[in-house]
Amino acid sequence: MSLAELPPGAGARAGVVHLVGAGPGDPGLVTVRALELLATADVVLHDELVAPSLLSLVRPGAEIRWVGKRGHRPGDKQNKQSEIDEELIALAREGKRVVRLKGGDPFLFGRGSEEAESLVAAGIRFEVVPGVTSPLAAAAYAGVSLTHRDLASSVTFLTARTREGARFDVAELRGLRGTICVMMGLRSLGDFCRDLIDVAGFDPATPACVVSRGTRPDQRVVEGTIVDIAARVEEAALATPALAIVGAVAGLRGVLRWFDAAPLFGKRVLVTRAAHQSGATAALLARRGAAPILVPTIEIGSAPDPSRVARAVRELSTYDLVVFTSDNGVARFFAALAEAELDARAFGRAEIAAIGEGTAKALAALGIRADLVPTSFVGEALAATILARFEKGGGAAGKRVLLPRALVARELVPEALRCAGATVDVVAMYETRPASAAIAESLRERLRAGEIDAVMVTSKSTIDGLCDLLGDEASSLLRSVAVASIGPVTSRAARDRGLVVATEAEPSTVPSLVDALEAHFASKPAS
Ligand code: SAH
Repeated sequence: MSLAELPPGAGARAGVVHLVGAGPGDPGLVTVRALELLATADVVLHDELVAPSLLSLVRPGAEIRWVGKRGHRPGDKQNKQSEIDEELIALAREGKRVVRLKGGDPFLFGRGSEEAESLVAAGIRFEVVPGVTSPLAAAAYAGVSLTHRDLASSVTFLTARTREGARFDVAELRGLRGTICVMMGLRSLGDFCRDLIDVAGFDPATPACVVSRGTRPDQRVVEGTIVDIAARVEEAALATPALAIVGAVAGLRGVLRWFDAAPLFGKRVLVTRAAHQSGATAALLARRGAAPILVPTIEIGSAPDPSRVARAVRELSTYDLVVFTSDNGVARFFAALAEAELDARAFGRAEIAAIGEGTAKALAALGIRADLVPTSFVGEALAATILARFEKGGGAAGKRVLLPRALVARELVPEALRCAGATVDVVAMYETRPASAAIAESLRERLRAGEIDAVMVTSKSTIDGLCDLLGDEASSLLRSVAVASIGPVTSRAARDRGLVVATEAEPSTVPSLVDALEAHFASKPAS
């Protein structure tokens, strides 16, 4: 439909509705187009099957509405499909860019077609963005190939319940030799399998498996045959959403299982980095099948003395070396530069050191290639690297060094440089504060309930933040939790607080910390 054909009222500011597939649960399985739309939408209407972390990618300021139909949450009323249709139409008529985000694919048992039909009837422009549908994804993550040259040459997707709530007519499947994916059928699985044998004439020995919460860290798979699968599923008390795969291919899991066999699969890992840093860490963990639990134990506040920051920025070109110690310090320093209407040229002849790859990357993103990226992040070695650099330029005496960093940090580097004759200005770019008491109590409860398998600690300040937050009980609450430390200084800080360090990263980067944690669980027999 062209714009000229749109009904009156729609006009040049006509809105548009995007029916977007959100994928099966693993947020990594969303499409590039879906991400683009989440980043630009005015309103996002979503179901309960949508991964919560996807919603954090919605443009700040956009409205997010939950329109699930099941009324699982207390106080949420049952939204009827027609109400959703009307909401979509009304929002589009207001000129909004609307994203209707649906689990899996919008056109596979997703009622996307019903919504699209009402949009057509109302003359609203729409777009469909396909998604990775749950039967494809759950099969892949369970280690089941839906087709196989020797085992299955067709795949049937079916819903156990039809529009009126009636059961699927299993007689349709008579003579079928391919794979069958049964959706929305957990409760009626026993009846369905009985009909397969009695009505459709299936061999009772036909393999079957049920995948619950496929692609997520709490994925569970139960295997059997169509005779016993329903009883096994009941015994295992599988949770929804779940789907059944019936056919010879279901037996492939024994060989092809990968996702839920990985060492970090299902491990609940506490990430205590500040909120702005934890997203990337969480994504790394999720890729290995772990369930990241994000609890920032510290909040980051602004610079305690802004005039000190302003002076450092003004006098920037008088320094010989500027040492950045965190991505947060970089971000805040550049914000201060911008505020003073300056840019990277203000560094003048000053050399730049970045401690840690994350810090170097943050600088690179701003067009600055650090002159010095010390490979050891331990204070002693760091000071030595800097001094070695100064040696080449006639020694440290009289050199001016700027150290923009957190208010509270180790004094070792500035002291070592001062001892060698340099002038060091430490400027606090930000201040860390402990998280709230409510966060502390809920974390204690989860630890007491044994709901956390490991914790990743990335600095002395995260250790202190965590232990201060948990209070006197810290070391006893963390006794059965695997503490994974980013390096020797952090490990020492952990031991000083009475913790036992299970594994340490080498080199001291977050990706190698995730590797270390994986190796730790791989070497431990599953409990
Ligand atoms: N449009 C969705 C399906 C919606 S119907 C899609 O394309 O995937 C809802 C059914 O999908 C559930 O009853 C269940 O059978 C299946 N389902 C959705 N997500 C699932 C998951 N992560 N694991 C297993 N089954 C899932």
